[in-house]
Amino acid sequence: MEVRTRFAPSPTGFMHLGGLRTALYNYLYAKKMGGKFILRIEDTDQERYVEGATEVIYDTLRGCGMQWDEGPDVGGDYGPYIQSERKQLYLPYAKQLVESGHAYYCFCTECELKARREAAEARGEVYKYDKHCLRLPKEEVEERLARGDSWVIRLNAPTEGESSYHDAVYGDMTFPNDTLDDMVLIKADGMPTYNFANVIDDHLMGITHVMRGAEYLSSTPKYNLLYEAFGWDIPEYVHLPSVMRDSHHKLSKRDGDAYYSDYVEKGYLTEALINYLALVGWNPGDDREFFTMDELIDVFDISRLNKAPGIFDVDKLTWFNAEYIRRMDFDRYLEIVTPWFDKVLKGKNIDYHRLAELMKDRTEVFNRVPDMVAFLGELPEYSVDLYTHKKMKSNPEVARTALALCLPVLEGIDEADWNETVIHDRLMETIANSGMKNGAVLWPLRIAISGQASTPGGAMEIAYLLGKEETLRRIHCGQEMLASAE
Ligand code: GLU
Repeated sequence: MEVRTRFAPSPTGFMHLGGLRTALYNYLYAKKMGGKFILRIEDTDQERYVEGATEVIYDTLRGCGMQWDEGPDVGGDYGPYIQSERKQLYLPYAKQLVESGHAYYCFCTECELKARREAAEARGEVYKYDKHCLRLPKEEVEERLARGDSWVIRLNAPTEGESSYHDAVYGDMTFPNDTLDDMVLIKADGMPTYNFANVIDDHLMGITHVMRGAEYLSSTPKYNLLYEAFGWDIPEYVHLPSVMRDSHHKLSKRDGDAYYSDYVEKGYLTEALINYLALVGWNPGDDREFFTMDELIDVFDISRLNKAPGIFDVDKLTWFNAEYIRRMDFDRYLEIVTPWFDKVLKGKNIDYHRLAELMKDRTEVFNRVPDMVAFLGELPEYSVDLYTHKKMKSNPEVARTALALCLPVLEGIDEADWNETVIHDRLMETIANSGMKNGAVLWPLRIAISGQASTPGGAMEIAYLLGKEETLRRIHCGQEMLASAE
C-alpha cells in the first residue's frame, strides 16, 4: 500500500517550529517510503481570514525544500485541498451517521447549554453534554427540522468502558469513555467542525499515517469512533511530543523564538535549521549530525522518534549554522552576507569580496555581522586603555612610537598601490629596520584604525579595506588621543 502522509496546518500567519518539524517528519517519511506527501489547509474553524496566511505555509515549506505531491496550487486526485473549499461535502456524511444511530440532531440553544454548564460547574462537575436531544422521539426531531428550528449534529459517544489505540511513539493508549463528549460534527450554520472535517478528509484523501502534535492524543479516541461508525480503516497514528525551549518553557512568540520567520530574520540558514530540527525529537541511531535533506530521507525512521519533549537549543542551532556557513560555497556566502554588510557599510566603498573572505569562518549567524564590521564604516569611540596589551608588549608610550613609525610609511604608498601586499611589505620592512617587535607595532596600529580589540583580519587587511585616506585619518585620531593621554 502506498504511504500517504499529510501536513494539515491551520493558517495562522506563522509557522511554529513544532509545526515545521511535524511537516518535516511527514515529508521525510513519505519520501522514504516512496509515498506521497500531501498538504491540506484546515481553515474551516477560522474566525477570521488572515491575510497571506496560506502563503506563509507555502513559502516556508518550499523554502525548506519540502515540496508537496498533492495540495493547493499543485492539485491532485483528492482535491480541493483547502477545507473551506470542501464545505459542502461534509453534511451528507454526518447525516449518514444520524441514520446509523451514531449521531443525532441536537436543538439545545446556547442559552440552555450555558445554564446546564453553569449548573454542572456549581456542582463541581466537569461539564459535558448530557445527551438531552438523543432522547427526543423521532417524530419530534422531524417536526422540529421541518419547522426550521436551529440544529447541530452531535456524535453519540459511549459513556462506559474504555477506548484504546496504538500510537507509534506513545505506544498503547487507553482513555475511559466517560471523558468523551458528544462533540458537534456539524454546526448550526451547516458547516463541519474542525474535528469532523479532519477525519472525513483524512479518509477521503487516503491518508495512511497521521503524524501530528501530541496535543491530539486525547482527541484520537473520538476520531476513532467516527472511523468505526463509518466502517473505515483507522490510519497509523504517530503523535509527536512538543518542541520546547527547555524542560519547563515553551518557545514563545514574545521571546521571538517560536516561529520559523524569527530564525530567518536573524539570519539562520534554512538547511541548518532543518538539519537541527530533524534531530530535535529524532535520532539516526549513531552519532552523525550533518544531513542533507536527501540523507535525512534515507535514514529517517519512525521507530527512532523520541517520546520526551524535544528541546530546541538555540546555541546548538547556532553551532550548526556556523558549520554550514564554513562549508558553504564562497559565492553563496557573499550573496547572503552582502545585505548584512549594507546595513552598516552601504556607500562606504569597501571591498566586500575581501571582507567576506575575512568574515566567512567567523560568521555564526548573519545578524551578528553588522556589529562585527560596523567599525569599517565608522571609527567607534574607544578607550586609550586598548593600546595596552601585555603579550604584544604594547602600552600608550609604545603606541605613540609605533604610530609615528607607521604613518610616514603608509603616507608614502601611492593610492594606486594601496593593496595588502604593498602595505604588508612596506610595514614589515620598516618594523624590521626599527628593531621593534611586530606585535608592538601592529597591535597599536590595528587599535588606531579599528577602535576595537577584536576584528576580522589584522592591521594590514583593515588598512587595505579602509583605503589610504581613511587609514591615515584614523592614525591621526589615534595620535591625538595618545597625545592628550600623556
Ligand atoms: N489543523 C491542525 C493544526 O494545525 C492539525 C491537526 C492534525 O494534524 O490532525 O494543529
